[in-house]
Amino acid sequence: MASDGNSAARLTIVIFGASGDLAHRKLVPALFHLFKTGALPDLCQFIGVARSDMTDESFRSSLADAIGGLDDADRSSWDAFAGNISYVRGSSTDDESLKAIDAIVSNSCGPSMTDDRLYYLALAPGLYPTTLEALGRCGMLDQAAGSRRVVIEKPFGTDRESSQELNSVVHSVADESQVFRIDHYLGKETVQNLLVFRFANTIFEPVWNRNYVDNVQISVLESLDTEGRSGYYDRAGVLRDMMQSHLMQLLSLIAMEPPVSAGADALRTEKAKVLQAVRKYGTEEAAANSIRGQYDGYRGEEGVAPSSATATYGVTRLFIDNWRWQGVPFYLRSGKALSEKTSEIAIQFRPPPHTIFDTQSANVTPNLLQITIQPDEGVHLTFENKKPGTRMGTAPERLEYHFPEQVIRDAYERLLLDAIEGDQSLFTRSDEIELSWQIIDPFVQAWEQSLKSQLYQYERGSNGPAAADEFLGGGRRWHQHGSGDGE
Ligand code: NDP
Repeated sequence: MASDGNSAARLTIVIFGASGDLAHRKLVPALFHLFKTGALPDLCQFIGVARSDMTDESFRSSLADAIGGLDDADRSSWDAFAGNISYVRGSSTDDESLKAIDAIVSNSCGPSMTDDRLYYLALAPGLYPTTLEALGRCGMLDQAAGSRRVVIEKPFGTDRESSQELNSVVHSVADESQVFRIDHYLGKETVQNLLVFRFANTIFEPVWNRNYVDNVQISVLESLDTEGRSGYYDRAGVLRDMMQSHLMQLLSLIAMEPPVSAGADALRTEKAKVLQAVRKYGTEEAAANSIRGQYDGYRGEEGVAPSSATATYGVTRLFIDNWRWQGVPFYLRSGKALSEKTSEIAIQFRPPPHTIFDTQSANVTPNLLQITIQPDEGVHLTFENKKPGTRMGTAPERLEYHFPEQVIRDAYERLLLDAIEGDQSLFTRSDEIELSWQIIDPFVQAWEQSLKSQLYQYERGSNGPAAADEFLGGGRRWHQHGSGDGE
């Protein structure tokens, strides 16, 4: 561990659950890159906590293995970084373990140095309440000696009631300003670009409403199946795993009113207002406004009940009851084992009210704006153009912008840095979480308890159940940039 310097503050990042997948695959690689680029404070140390029997050395080497491919230059940076990493064997819920960690950190700071801490709960969600209570009980969230921030991973609750219970535990030990509920989607460059695209340009905002927009499609599609996480997935399903978190966040960014600033409270207040305005369905309405599916072979996977009705694919149709969006359907779609991995938002504009061109040679396609989040990060606008030739025919063409690949870093880097700096803009506030669950709960009830919602089977590697196409109605179709849409 690095020795005391004479600078005024030392930051300690404590990762609870440090032996796990998230710490190895995401957190430590992101911290290492931040370290290499000089983005971390000068005095920064890292403590991994888990119950496995490891020494500092074996912990560091398991992290180096997880990063892999370190060349000579990386190796010397790694050695400098790893010198600040230590491991404490213990439990996040056990007072003795926490007091030992507290003493290590306090001693490394000394009385004259500010002792800033970031606790990262990379733990199974069931451990969040007991860990938070233990941190509170041991006085480790008290901010007298320095800042005390807590990052809490998703999932935050499993329904509205459990999210409220967890929020009340959080608020019993910490102030909301200390809490960073992470949804790594918000750390993606293209997701942040939604704010810039909407609020640093004037040409889109005038048409961003019910007068011009026919429907909005938010799709997060995965080609992978549940990848050995079937046991967890079978309890969660697509609604809890994706819809309540990532898709709801994208919905609120697309539909929000312009905030007065990019500050955390202004931003999160506008996002929460969208969620407040989403029409709340009863169970029957939720069944009528959704489609669910399950890929063939899912029930044969390890940890999945042979009769499992868990949806691995889902579409929900939401309406936002406010002046801007009244009557515009927002389709949220997500699924596993599909033909391709893609995340995108498609804003389908209305067709022109009247066509002046010869309809025999002109087939006017409504404008389409596609904001692609992954894998091809960018913005694509489809518009009508004259078909070259003697006749007045029209054909859709596309304007495209692609984010340069080298600037796109892992979302965790940005979010970790924001948490270190205390910027909560890209973290979810307690009311946003509870409102998201309130929207999703009726779908969960409709899908899990009501017989009215049919479970469609779909083939692996397909585009999901055919019923999802019919579900759109009104002559609408799904837009998917990767599938050559708009070309
Ligand atoms: P893992 O199960 O891989 O890791 C959790 C770790 O917690 C285990 O290695 C375990 O190690 C440790 N642990 C268990 N009990 C305690 C305890 N009482 N005190 C300290 N450590 C403990 O899970 P993940 O890393 O995959 O996920 C962690 C969290 O992050 C989950 O909430 C998950 O939903 C979320 N998440 C994960 C993502 C990912 O990509 N992995 C993505 C998004 C969210 P030991 O037995 O040594 O104590």
